[in-house]
Amino acid sequence: MSRAMNRVVVVGASLAGLATARSLRVQGYDGELVMVGEEPHRPYDRPPLSKDFLTGTTDVADLTLESNGEDLGIDWKLGTRADRLENGKVYLEDGTSWAYDGLVIATGARARTDVVGARLDGVHLLRTLDDALALREGLRRGGRVVVVGGGYIGSEVASTARAMGCEVTLLVSGTAPLHHALGPHAVVVSDLHHRHGVEVVTRARVTGIRPSGGSLVVDLADGRRLPADRVVLGTGAVPATAWLAGSGLELGDGVRCDATGATSLPGVVALGDCSAWFDPALGRHCRVEHWTSAVDRAPIAARTLLGGEAPTTAPRRAPYLWSDIHGSRIQMAGHAELANSCAVETGSVAEGSFVAVYRRRGHPVAVLGVDQPKHFMSVRRRLVSIPAVPSLQGASA
Ligand SMILES: Cc1cc2nc3c(=O)[nH]c(=O)nc-3n(C[C@H](O)[C@H](O)[C@H](O)COP(=O)(O)OP(=O)(O)OC[C@H]3O[C@@H](n4cnc5c(N)ncnc54)[C@H](O)[C@@H]3O)c2cc1C
Repeated sequence: MSRAMNRVVVVGASLAGLATARSLRVQGYDGELVMVGEEPHRPYDRPPLSKDFLTGTTDVADLTLESNGEDLGIDWKLGTRADRLENGKVYLEDGTSWAYDGLVIATGARARTDVVGARLDGVHLLRTLDDALALREGLRRGGRVVVVGGGYIGSEVASTARAMGCEVTLLVSGTAPLHHALGPHAVVVSDLHHRHGVEVVTRARVTGIRPSGGSLVVDLADGRRLPADRVVLGTGAVPATAWLAGSGLELGDGVRCDATGATSLPGVVALGDCSAWFDPALGRHCRVEHWTSAVDRAPIAARTLLGGEAPTTAPRRAPYLWSDIHGSRIQMAGHAELANSCAVETGSVAEGSFVAVYRRRGHPVAVLGVDQPKHFMSVRRRLVSIPAVPSLQGASA
């Protein structure tokens, strides 16, 4: 270890923070470990919040991220947020401050609320366990639900609400749900919604939400008015980095880090949804909101913090995410934006079960699978890391 490490402070008591705490211990760090979390809960898993947890198939106890009997020797400071980072100290809203030898920033992201009426009763966000408990309660009452958002969370909530018997309208600003992520293959998601009775309104621009006679109305720019008993905003998330303003850290869309999690301040690493690591495959900084990225990067960030050997140059696992929509499993891995060709290699989009492989100069660089987990995984294992293949580098495909 190049710095004397007696106290590491981790801000953000969730997936990335806990995974880094584990990695620090595995890598031999035996000093003080303080973990600060704004939420009152011990670390829990978020993906089920829009899926099984909403329906009630899984419950709070199933969400824990800590293993049975796990004791990492953490000094937990829960239910209090970090307000400020200044001169090697983290200041908490409870009035205490913590000097550190090493700091892990893992504060994740917050749901966007930039829609007029976002704070009204009956309008829900979905980022935290408490958000999910409130939404679950609301959906159990049934009725008309309008979901705003064309991303994964919007489609997942629409599918779950429908499974719970609600009448669901999904508003997306583009031409199809998940079009930005899946391109032409997004038709599979539109088909799923259609077959399960979710009404999808495309090119929808919400101008506001307002109360109306005990329920709500969602106003669209084209003059349409959609009555709703509840509205769910799935309009994306912003990195939770406001508390770092004035800290001297380089911030952009997230805390800017190199490819090892190091930030612009010595002894400070960042990872998870709040961070934008330099991605050698893309040649730029990139903020990734994927479960596996937070976990995969934890050992790297821990090693960076402890000043161990430079991370290995072996290719890292390509980014990966999954989603469950109307019972279909969608999986995506790699960097589809770097491909110059794409072909369905198994199944068919029309049948809603396929594997599409994205290639760059013939090499597989990304894969999309719908209800084909086995084949998907076999291609995922063969994905090529662009920095590891000199012939694949360069701006043009
Ligand atoms: C509903 C939902 C469904 C998802 N489904 C999937 C999926 O199917 N597949 C997938 O790959 N990914 C999914 N994700 C994304 C995945 O959960 C995230 O990538 C992952 O949680 C990121 O972990 P994190 O620790 O970086 O951030 P988070 O899990 O957001 O945790 C950050 C923690 O820091 C706390 N915090 C923030 N600011 C402060 C502060 N100033 N002081 C103290 N504490 C603070 C927050 O309260 C929070 O507890 C989903 C996310 C959500 C919300």
